[in-house]
Amino acid sequence: ATGGRATGGDATGGAGPLRSICIVGGGTAGWSAAALLARVLRGSGCRITLVESSAIPTVGVGEATIPPIFDFLHNIGADEVEFIRRCQATFKLGIRFRDWLHPGHEYWHPFGSLGVTINRRPFHHYYCRTLAEGHGETLADLCPAAALAEDGKFAFPSPDGQWPGGAVAYALHFDAGLVAAFLRDHAERAGVERLDRRIVGARRGEGETIAAIAFDDGTALSADFYIDCSGFRGLLIEETLGAGFEDWKHWLPCDRAIAAPTAAQARRAPHTLATAQSAGWQWCIPLQHRTGNGLVYASDFIDDADAEAELLAGLDGEPLAQPRVLRFTAGLRRRAWVGNCLAIGLAAGFLEPLESTSIHLIHTGLNRLLDLFPDRGFDPALRAAYNRDVHREYAHIRDFLLLHYAPNRREGEPFWDHMRGLALPDTLAEKIELFERTGRIAARQRELFADINWFYVMHGMGLVPAAIDPLAGAVPAAEVREVIGQLRGAMLAFRRAAPTHDAILARLLDPAETR
Ligand code: FAD
Repeated sequence: ATGGRATGGDATGGAGPLRSICIVGGGTAGWSAAALLARVLRGSGCRITLVESSAIPTVGVGEATIPPIFDFLHNIGADEVEFIRRCQATFKLGIRFRDWLHPGHEYWHPFGSLGVTINRRPFHHYYCRTLAEGHGETLADLCPAAALAEDGKFAFPSPDGQWPGGAVAYALHFDAGLVAAFLRDHAERAGVERLDRRIVGARRGEGETIAAIAFDDGTALSADFYIDCSGFRGLLIEETLGAGFEDWKHWLPCDRAIAAPTAAQARRAPHTLATAQSAGWQWCIPLQHRTGNGLVYASDFIDDADAEAELLAGLDGEPLAQPRVLRFTAGLRRRAWVGNCLAIGLAAGFLEPLESTSIHLIHTGLNRLLDLFPDRGFDPALRAAYNRDVHREYAHIRDFLLLHYAPNRREGEPFWDHMRGLALPDTLAEKIELFERTGRIAARQRELFADINWFYVMHGMGLVPAAIDPLAGAVPAAEVREVIGQLRGAMLAFRRAAPTHDAILARLLDPAETR
């Protein structure tokens, strides 16, 4: 039985363009895939079907993003302002980390850059130098996004690119359920067909392929290519194809989260707040209509009841809904692409949401798929290239997340002692050693986190280099001080003139206004 939708999809059907794609799952991953593929494949004759079950809820807590979110919106042809209006979005200038180094300590991981390049050396080298020389500038004196975030203000990057306005970068906080609805509208308008059915299994074809998926009403659907966006369980990629899971819990032991929304903030902060807790950390994400909160924790160190009590004690206001526990394991599928099935989103893997990277991984996965798009021959070289690249990307993010924990000084707290004592991956240990000995970072080109991102967290977590970049060190001190004086002057004027985050939102949400 095919419900009249059989396409004759046969993964071994030789070359020729894909005639049909079936996306399994209608969370952020599924509808992102549908919206992008529908746009890219328009006019190709390839039919796209998305299957979701309204009886199976989505995760629904992906609320914070990073700046490349706007590339994705652009790629699907969405209007940024309409998106902000419909998804109850607010602006995010970075993350404020509270109590991570030790209780009472705070630092910023802002978006955008710090200072200006001097003598072709990036400014963080001069910032290290200025601190070593005993000057008292804070990060917010020299980083426009951190300054605005500290003041509860917001400004769009100035189009002339001049510092400080040109150095601002930003992302969004949003309501994940509304985002899925927004993307669904886009996808359906572009011709994606949606089926509300519960999938009860899948039939394997020749080799490692899917021949058809089966529904609880006895019908089935067959396609050339399947995109598994079914969430943590990995309905096709794991349950049917057995891709295997690379478990990274020994590095990232947080394996649960408990979430509860509260009322909207009276003054919505233009940043995410991440506060360290006894066995994990708590997020606070301001949206237009409510505030998202959740505690991410390691169940080896705290039980659910104590975690709930810790979450509630850390809330600003009463919860608007019963706290909800989510379980996960840090890691990724050994192969995200097997045969004619590619996993995207939580079905592909998950790393805790400390740096808001999951939705970004959905989008990089989809972009990589476009780069390595198959025909019905499914050349294994495409899969190999895809899977290699996914592993490299996850390992990069894993290292960056671990950097937030490893240097902590919360002595005497079992979870934090454990995190401080971890045997780090070589890639991260080498990075920390390089920075501590030389002030250099050397992130690879095209990696998500560049030198400046590593610097913000290394500096925030108290790492101090023993030496200054010699080229930055060679610039006369008077010259460096003069540039810093000019930057601070420009920053003062910039901070004073910037509107509040709430004022910008109000202007944007006023239907009579356009940006
Ligand atoms: P899901 O949302 O789980 O969707 C799965 C879909 O599959 C659903 O539509 C369901 O109906 C369907 N389905 C499943 N089984 C069947 C079946 N048998 N038949 C039919 N349909 C089926 N990401 C960020 O970028 N920023 C954040 O701040 C962030 N915070 C997070 C906090 C937590 C605690 C967690 C756990 C995740 C967070 N994430 C965050 C990750 C983010 O939520 C996910 O990446 C994103 O929601 C994508 O989820 P998904 O679409 O892969 O899966």
